[in-house]
Amino acid sequence: MSLGNRIESFALGTLSTLIPKFNRSFLMKLTEANRLKPRKLLRLDVHLADHCNLNCRGCEHLSPLGEEKLLALDTFERDCARLSELSGGRIAELSLLGGEPLLHPRLTEFLPVARNYFPSGRIQVATNGILLLKQPPDFWEALHKNRIRLCVTVYPITINHDEIKRLGKKHRVEIVYWGSLKHMNKLWEKMPIDLSGAQDAGESFRKCYAANYCFQLVEGKIYPCFRAAYIGYFNRQFNTHLQVTADDYIDIYKAKTIQELVQFLCKPVPFCRYCNMKQVEYTEWGVSKKEISEWT
Ligand code: SF4
Ligand code: SF4
Repeated sequence: MSLGNRIESFALGTLSTLIPKFNRSFLMKLTEANRLKPRKLLRLDVHLADHCNLNCRGCEHLSPLGEEKLLALDTFERDCARLSELSGGRIAELSLLGGEPLLHPRLTEFLPVARNYFPSGRIQVATNGILLLKQPPDFWEALHKNRIRLCVTVYPITINHDEIKRLGKKHRVEIVYWGSLKHMNKLWEKMPIDLSGAQDAGESFRKCYAANYCFQLVEGKIYPCFRAAYIGYFNRQFNTHLQVTADDYIDIYKAKTIQELVQFLCKPVPFCRYCNMKQVEYTEWGVSKKEISEWT
């Protein structure tokens, strides 16, 4: 998932593609106080698969570089149980995504687990839509039964959206589109990686649309964003050494309260020094050639 994978950050990302570049800083400044307040309730992204069947150039989740890694159901259940214990079962939003979550052959089994531990929050599966029409009826039924919505991110590719909408209606599943079907998300915001790590972490964080929002739950740890969570794939591909340390994530089994988590996540981490917000640019969507320049 990328540019359009969540409402709040999506709104900022999209707006900033529609307005002149110099206005981006203004927009970020304007929204800073609200964006960076500790959240009352957690929202989380969880990769069901690290890899993807679309492989967009510069994918923020580094999926074109990712290995074919699927989340184990028992790991997911254990982490949900722990977070439910800390939060009293309250969560603002849980997004099951990737990579491409529909590549997980047991995806349907994750849905009741998520709903069981978070009875009232919003739960959603976020997909690029490519495999949606191949899903069996029990996928749609599990979405409906567990009150889970489907978020389809729009890319400039050919997909039968009318049929997807028809199936959603038939199975009484809410479907939302992230991005415009008319404009097809052709422009992407790129926050370049500074390989030297010489940026001011606090400044990068303040200007980052992922900050205090795109939290990634990975095997018992919550990272502030996709970049800190999956940079290992980038390091492996390009033989770089961007460092993620124990100060860049919070361990849900060591944290004692939900407040500890939200307080940690609303502040910059050392890893933010690798993000160069002074040279944010807009690039045309395309398929990745796995070149380092797609991310730097
Ligand atoms: S569709 Fe796949 S490759 Fe493209 S942005 Fe989403 S996760 Fe990344
Ligand atoms: S490391 Fe910090 S600045 Fe970079 S994308 Fe993540 S939250 Fe944003």
